[in-house]
Amino acid sequence: MRRPFIAGNWKMNTTKAEGVALVKGVAEGNTAGDSVEVAVCAPSVYLDAVVTAAAGKVGVGAQNCYHEASGAFTGEISAAMAKDVGCQYVILGHSERRHIFGESNADVCKKVHAVLAAGLVPIVCVGELLEERESGKTSDVVAEQMYGSLAGVTDEQMKSVVIAYEPVWAIGTGKVATPEQAEEVHAGIRTLMTAKYGEAISEGVRIQYGGSVKPDNAAELLSQPNIDGALVGGASLKADSFLGIIAGAN
Ligand code: PEP
Repeated sequence: MRRPFIAGNWKMNTTKAEGVALVKGVAEGNTAGDSVEVAVCAPSVYLDAVVTAAAGKVGVGAQNCYHEASGAFTGEISAAMAKDVGCQYVILGHSERRHIFGESNADVCKKVHAVLAAGLVPIVCVGELLEERESGKTSDVVAEQMYGSLAGVTDEQMKSVVIAYEPVWAIGTGKVATPEQAEEVHAGIRTLMTAKYGEAISEGVRIQYGGSVKPDNAAELLSQPNIDGALVGGASLKADSFLGIIAGAN
């Protein structure tokens, strides 16, 4: 059985005080216990404070990192730095990184290797644009992103990878994919993983859905056989709504 994994992506939001209060609210209100894995991915400047406030009750992740270990890369953070302040996860290849900052699958792949080498869990995002879905290219786009972003990842490493399927047209738009639409792509992603890593590994990898997940649509999405959690943007910025989504996974 795959343990559901609900992660919040705060993006470039909150003050330090708000972030600290938010993670405390999640930690205090979470009644799911060990049955659901829960994490928040905070802005990098607040990670240290959020890890301290989480007090080990909620996992913490970075929203991105650079692939090099250290050096003259102004403005970047390394996977080792995220680990050093107590993160367990790093979101990689989020659609905003791909489409606003121009990250390619090759860029994401280098970061995946850096994150795995640091002993952290990469949450690798894939997902199609609206025009790609409308022209029937969803499965090709997702396959290219999956194989491109995970090139060179070994069987052993794949066991700690989390995939997030996030259709770009559903992110921050309020247009959630139907459970059937999401499940179709999730099942396709698992088939791609089985082809590359075999069934035993593929069956253990969690695939989160992301794109306008809210307390009132979470349970139905999460009841699909290949939807193993959620990556949540807007609704992760309020403890109550994030807790409502966690409850939907339980
Ligand atoms: C996201 O940023 O990964 C996301 C899914 O955002 P939202 O939940 O706001 O659509």
